[in-house]
Amino acid sequence: MAIQTATGTAQCPECLADVTLTKVMQNEITQCPGCGAELEIVSLEPLTLALAPQEEEDWGE
Ligand SMILES: [Zn+2]
Repeated sequence: MAIQTATGTAQCPECLADVTLTKVMQNEITQCPGCGAELEIVSLEPLTLALAPQEEEDWGE
């Protein structure tokens, strides 16, 4: 199974900072160094970031 990775920069959708990505895979989660948002790599060509779905830690206690 070939694993595709990409290296480059993509823009954070939250704070519009350039985020440097090194050998990332699609659907990988990374963190924006600017605003700390969790970002998901949604595309490798071109490198595109989207806000990762927030896992609500609310299990109805
Ligand atoms: Zn950001």
